[in-house]
Formats: sequence, structure tokens, C-alpha cells
Amino acid sequence: MINPTELPDLTKASVQTLSDPLVSQKGIKIDVLRLDKIHTIISGNKWFKLKYYLQLADEQKKKGIISLGGAYSNHLVATAYMCKLAGLSSAGIIRGEEPANLSPTLHAMQAYGMSLQFYSRQAYRDPNLIERVQEAHPDFLLIEEGGRGLPGVQGAEEILHLAAFHQYSHIVCAVGTGTMMTGIINSALPSQSVIGILSLKLNTDHPPSILNFIQQYSRYSNFSLLDNLHFGGYAKKNDELITFMNKFYRRHSIPTDFVYTGKLFFGAMKLVEEDFFDAGANILIIHSGGLQGNMSLAAGTLDF
Ligand SMILES: *Cc1c(COP(=O)(O)O)cnc(C)c1O
Repeated sequence: MINPTELPDLTKASVQTLSDPLVSQKGIKIDVLRLDKIHTIISGNKWFKLKYYLQLADEQKKKGIISLGGAYSNHLVATAYMCKLAGLSSAGIIRGEEPANLSPTLHAMQAYGMSLQFYSRQAYRDPNLIERVQEAHPDFLLIEEGGRGLPGVQGAEEILHLAAFHQYSHIVCAVGTGTMMTGIINSALPSQSVIGILSLKLNTDHPPSILNFIQQYSRYSNFSLLDNLHFGGYAKKNDELITFMNKFYRRHSIPTDFVYTGKLFFGAMKLVEEDFFDAGANILIIHSGGLQGNMSLAAGTLDF
């Protein structure tokens, strides 16, 4: 467990060119913005999505932050860590009954001082859950599941500035709530095409509409959301995905997770194969970090 004193180091967000025969054969170029390298816990997009929420909590003189998520939530562990850094309390509403053995992610949340409250899946689905949680914790700033919301979008608008992003024709990213993608759309040039690879089924596993959210908060409409690369839904996986992630790591030394970025890179390579991109395309893929989900896999499943 790392000591929660370390801030992310944005200078570590390198841009890595994928050297892949298929990519060169198609006459395109793919660069990867390695947000996964900025920090081990506040990995990837979560730093950007959370920073303005922390500022808000401070401005509103809140005692802490409360949010919601699953037992392997990248969002919650990042929230716990950032609150600890900022000297704020944190509380997490966890989907599902308390397990006999806490997941490593839940352990880490607790170690960073987050108090955990377990809700049965049924209680968690209550449409009034958010209101009830906020009422019960008036001195906590509530962040929606996954950091969904405008402050998250505003933070995500800073991501592209870590790369010389003007040169790219396409920007490709993973989509959970769509918060990061909205920030990327807002900061991309209107002439660039932003492609979101959904890690869950559109408008089925998630009550609030991802598309409505993106449309509500984005300034441009130069984006598309791909709904056919999620392997059956949120956190669903199969052997093909795991095999791809291992091969991808061996070839490029880029670790991915099966919830978001494994599907992102699998999807991007499939698009390349299917000639989705014209020759000459110059593509930037955002590696959004977040490897917590992999801890739910049996030891030895992954080569990294
Ligand atoms: C949380 C997360 C996402 C999803 O971001 P949204 O803003 O919710 O769409 C994507 N990739 C990784 C690695 C994540 O941890």
C-alpha cells in the first residue's frame, strides 16, 4: 500500500506510438496517451474527474465527500485517496452486501480513511438513493456514481492538453458514464472526430442515459459512441478479451483492465481491422488508467 502523500505526476503521461504491423499496413498511425502512468492509485482519468469536486467541497466548507460504486471501483478508491490527501473525510456507498473478505480495492479505500456502507443490490437500485444519501449526510459533498457530472467534465477538459493533440484526426476513449468523453469533446477541435468505446450496453445497464449526458454537457457534436464492443455489458468479459490483453501487454508493455481499457484497445484494433479509419488517419487513444477491476481475476489470468 502506498503512502497517501503522493500527488500524480502529470509529466509521466507519455505519448507512446503503437508499433504494430496491422496499423502500418493500413497506412495509419496510433499514439497512446498513457494517463495510467501518472499515479498508481489516482490512476488515469480519475484525477482529472475528481479535482474540481475536491475544490467544491473546500469552497462549500464540507467535511468530506461521499460517493457510490462497486467493490472494485477505480472512482471510489481514487476519491478516498484524494480526500486523504486533502484532509477531507470520505464515505463510500458500496453496491452489494458486505463480503466476508474485502476486495483489495475496498481494503485500500478503508486504509485511506473512507468509511464504507454496504447496500444490497436492490437497495442500491432505489431511484431515490442519491437523495436519501445526501439527506443523511448534509455536510458531505455528494458525487454521483463514477464521478458523473459537470465538475468531472471540466476536469476532463484538461486531459488532451497533455499531448500535442491538434495533430490528430481521431481521438478514441473508453466510456463509462461519459464524463471523460464529454470533457474530451469540449477540448478537441471541432474538426477532430471523438470516438467513445462503451464499456457497457447503452441505456440498459445504466439508468441515466449516457448519450443524453454527453449531449447536455458537450459543446460540439463531432463524436460517435460505439455500442458493440462491450463484450455483453459492464465488467463482462470472455477469454478472447483476456487473451487480447495479455498479447497487447507482451507487444506494447501497456497494461489494460478488462472493464475499460482492455475493451478500448480491443475495440480500436478491431476498428483498424475493419477499415473504420481511412489511410492517413492519425489516431490518439486515451489510456484512462484504472486497473482495479483486474484484482477480481484469479491469480495468473494476466501476464502483468
Ligand atoms: C472510470 C473509468 C472510465 C470511465 O470514465 P467515464 O468518465 O465514467 O466515462 C474509463 N476508463 C477507466 C480506466 C476508468 O477507470
